[in-house]
Amino acid sequence: MKLQKLVCPFLISCLLCGCGKGTVVSSNKQSTHHEIGESVHEQNYDDNSVINLVYPKTGIEEVDQQIVAWTQYYQKLYATDRNDIALQEKTELNIDYQSYLKDDRYISIKLDVFISIHENQEFIETLVYDLDHQAFVTISDFMDTAALELLSEKVREMLEEQYPEECNSQNYAIFTAPSVKNFAKFIMRKDALVVYFEPGTVFDHSAYLELPYEDLLDGLNMASEETSVFVPYEDVLNEPVKNIDPDKPMVALTFDDGPTKKYTLAILDTLKEYQASATFFVLGSRASDYPEILQRMILEGNEIGNHTFSHKQLTTLSKENIEEEITATQESIHDVTNRYPKLIRPPYGSKNDTVMQCAEGKKIVTWSLDTEDWKSRNTETIVNKVINEVNDGDIILMHDLYASTAEAAIILIPKLQDLGYQLVTVSDLYEFSKNDSGKIM
Ligand code: ZN
Repeated sequence: MKLQKLVCPFLISCLLCGCGKGTVVSSNKQSTHHEIGESVHEQNYDDNSVINLVYPKTGIEEVDQQIVAWTQYYQKLYATDRNDIALQEKTELNIDYQSYLKDDRYISIKLDVFISIHENQEFIETLVYDLDHQAFVTISDFMDTAALELLSEKVREMLEEQYPEECNSQNYAIFTAPSVKNFAKFIMRKDALVVYFEPGTVFDHSAYLELPYEDLLDGLNMASEETSVFVPYEDVLNEPVKNIDPDKPMVALTFDDGPTKKYTLAILDTLKEYQASATFFVLGSRASDYPEILQRMILEGNEIGNHTFSHKQLTTLSKENIEEEITATQESIHDVTNRYPKLIRPPYGSKNDTVMQCAEGKKIVTWSLDTEDWKSRNTETIVNKVINEVNDGDIILMHDLYASTAEAAIILIPKLQDLGYQLVTVSDLYEFSKNDSGKIM
């Protein structure tokens, strides 16, 4: 089995073209980093507002309290800002995270906050926690004055190289000076210290820098660790044979926002038991967390679709950012399954001409039957809705995030088959179904 390098070609091209400018959110997203904590996923949406929060639960009380405090703060800020204006468009709050473990000792958490109310705003929160001392870490805890001066020097050197036009301002001089306050936002990755500058500090836009530990100081007492390497998915040799009868009714079950360990696996077990297939619209940010689940999906005849990287409403993003969301997800799914998805489901079903353009040869898939499982969180309600409303050719929307949905799927899979429906993937539905009702694009 050959080993695949961690850095995907997309990331390299992205770094080369310098599109890091002002896009801190995308800085590390091409390879996911969830090294610590279980993901907590909260959603709440209606006609005017979409809220999608993903943040880690580490089991360390102080850390978890801080993370929850941040998510509450931004939810409040979002609610207040929404109240201030007459709302015409759908507004959005999206929180996503990265987490790192260095030397089995330092936990770093970075929250990316995205608020879209008329205009898009981005915020970053970071924390570093020392497991040995059971305390939060500031940069002065491991850098003395000399080390801090060297850091400031290195930072200026790198910024002047990356942003030669913008390094003459007074702000630039003030906010890159060797003070603890200027370097309050940082994380410790295995390979490098990463520092973040918010908009309105060093520059008008945000910026971040990755500083390999070796470039800092010997006295820092920190070195790069080996980073983990993905084992690629060798091509599937025994892809399941499907016997789909185009003359019989069929529906496509679809599960969004996963995978999750508990619920996705339970759904997969039942699909396998009844030789049924489904389509999983996974998030790029989760794909590399669960390579074995994605591989199992494919091996057992299911389909994987692209549900973007960080679940933002695509219609509020620039063309460049939409492309980034789609491409990063294509790559992260390909990294673990050796396949590029052919389907895209935009979060919240939101699409416009730009989104369609960015889809480039991939099908945009929404749904024809919405179980509203995220709203009811009730197994019986979900099962009844599907059984009462299902039609030949339907694409059924569910989320493999909730126990109630997994339980509903376990009941629905044999029940739909008893009613005469073949359970097929979305691509197979498009290919074989004679009924166009569910083939919504
Ligand atoms: Zn979704």
